[in-house]
Amino acid sequence: MENCIFCKIVRGELNSWKVYEDESTYAFFDINPKNEYHTLVIPKKHYENMFDIPEAEAVNIMKTIKKIVDLYSVKLGMQNLQVINSSGAQAQQDVFHIHFHIVPRFSGDGQNIKWNPRTELRDRFDDLLAKLS
Ligand code: AMP
Ligand code: ZN
Repeated sequence: MENCIFCKIVRGELNSWKVYEDESTYAFFDINPKNEYHTLVIPKKHYENMFDIPEAEAVNIMKTIKKIVDLYSVKLGMQNLQVINSSGAQAQQDVFHIHFHIVPRFSGDGQNIKWNPRTELRDRFDDLLAKLS
């Protein structure tokens, strides 16, 4: 993927602040950090998002996320964080090389992810499940 910014980071063509890497994954600080240690975890190979990534690669990403969470826990005493992936433009994905955000959270950090519950959907749960069978 010639012009993908995250592929460029993996190839070393763009600067990044590396936290961790192994054979298949790479983790680095988000350039627009929402808190200290806001980290992105990506596969070294280019996949767009959760729809096209092979299962084994997704597993590798989750293993790396867990390693970094343990690192931040042991080294920094971190106890709160969010792991976030957006897959698809309508799901607010901006960079189309799959990535998982690790966003440390602290009381009073001024950040707030707020979802609006749609309780009316409860009435349709049976129909929604029926479509899966
Ligand atoms: P998303 O909205 O989930 O697709 O998030 C994309 C993230 O990539 C944003 O938080 C950006 O700040 C981050 N980002 C974009 N370019 C770079 C870069 N060169 N290095 C590190 N993070 C980046
Ligand atoms: Zn890429």
